[in-house]
Amino acid sequence: KDKAYSMMVRCRIPGGRLTAEQFLAHLDICDLLGNSTMKITTRQTIQLHGIVKQDLQKTIVKINSLGLSTFAACGDVNRNVMCCSAKKATPVHRQIEQLTNDLAEALAPRTTTYRELWIVDQQTGDRHLVAEQTASQPEQAEIEPLYGPTYLPRKFKCAVVSPDDNCADVYTQDLGFIAVVEHDQVVGYNVVVGGGMGATPSNAATFPAVAQPMAFCTPEQAIDVAKAVLIVQRDHGNRADRKVARMKYLIANWGLPRFRQAVEAVLGFALADCRDVQITEIDDHMGWQPQGDGLWSYGLNIENGRISDGKTTQLKNALRQLTTFHQKEIRLAANQSLIFCDIRPEEREPFMAILRNNQVRTTEETSLVRRLSLACVALPTCGLAITEAERRLPSVMDELEVVLAHLKLDASQFTIRMTGCPNGCARPYVADIALVGKAVDRYTLYVGGTILGTRLGYVLSDMVSVTEIVPQLSKIFLAYQADRHGEESLGDFCFRLGQAALLEACQQQADA
Ligand code: SF4
Repeated sequence: KDKAYSMMVRCRIPGGRLTAEQFLAHLDICDLLGNSTMKITTRQTIQLHGIVKQDLQKTIVKINSLGLSTFAACGDVNRNVMCCSAKKATPVHRQIEQLTNDLAEALAPRTTTYRELWIVDQQTGDRHLVAEQTASQPEQAEIEPLYGPTYLPRKFKCAVVSPDDNCADVYTQDLGFIAVVEHDQVVGYNVVVGGGMGATPSNAATFPAVAQPMAFCTPEQAIDVAKAVLIVQRDHGNRADRKVARMKYLIANWGLPRFRQAVEAVLGFALADCRDVQITEIDDHMGWQPQGDGLWSYGLNIENGRISDGKTTQLKNALRQLTTFHQKEIRLAANQSLIFCDIRPEEREPFMAILRNNQVRTTEETSLVRRLSLACVALPTCGLAITEAERRLPSVMDELEVVLAHLKLDASQFTIRMTGCPNGCARPYVADIALVGKAVDRYTLYVGGTILGTRLGYVLSDMVSVTEIVPQLSKIFLAYQADRHGEESLGDFCFRLGQAALLEACQQQADA
């Protein structure tokens, strides 16, 4: 008798842009074939959990029939391309979204195997493309002109942002494009390379990294630059040890100048140096935002991206009603949340009434600390999880909200991210505060990152037990309240002090 295997199914949705129909269909799939919940991920896509083996093909066929795909959402290829999820009627947003689409297309594998394996004609039972391929079997090199016969040494991630909104966390990606804007037009991109969050604590050769600025490219050069970067990683990335196979390790071994030379050698021309452009802000796009075309978007904060119905809160039901009532575009934000687009002014009140009628906590009713937090899936559905994240963070937030309100720090903007293992799927190492699963019910506490996502935090303490999380964070908040400089953020305060001085400041708070 076959074992009862269940799977996670993840889509590839560039920039997280969906139609109402596509979103509604995912709600149906999770109810009919999954575990009745679905997860909005930190890469602007959807994960369905609990798909049993015999329903796997049915699920993939259904997703493809919606004009979406699970192809290259996993594996040693370019993953879902991220960009700012806000809908804005500006030339810069249009150019960023266009490059996102172009990257997704240009860096997609070309193999037909996915369709041959999974996509079956529902009428005839025929597997698509098998006959066509048999008729004229192309050479392997033609099938995968970019990836070749062995694909990449490891997964590859990229994103496009503008400097005034790093909501897609560009520095955590293998490859990032930061728009250089002049007179409301993108005149090119600063290309950053070598970011990546995963690390293995038992392997000293591994580390999280933020991407480094490599060169400037024009909009016309961007796709060729992306391909060249990918080719350099394809040909020179470590294929002997998967633990150190991400592109950040190649750049660390070679140094950035040699890496850039290799990219330019593939391109056949030299790139200009980066323009002087800095990341200045981040916007989570939650709540009501004008699109600039007379319409509005509403960002609904979804705690840790988990969509489910509870005893009182009927989130799934509300989302069904909203997408039925409001059949417009929906976007998956990089903070595991939803943005409903193209809402007319007169539709705003009925829209909010649906949330209220289903007891859904609106963004306006959500504390800032909860709104800016992220947690990965972890237990029970991630096979790599060491401990809890998504199921634990809400109760930590309940306690922190009380502490922060008491200290009058509830208007402070900072990020708290929790993961169930050091792989870092919730991009913890750039957060102001991170809790990274180290053992069952124990976490490594990182501090000193920044909400802008431009800097790594450092380890403040290790093996912090669940019961110690809030007391330890409370001491940091007290030290911050007592010693911060002006408008200094929590992450900047922790970074300025460094580990030894911050521990001492926390101890003083404990002794006081
Ligand atoms: Fe799983 Fe670890 Fe990623 Fe969390 S960080 S989803 S536990 S692999």
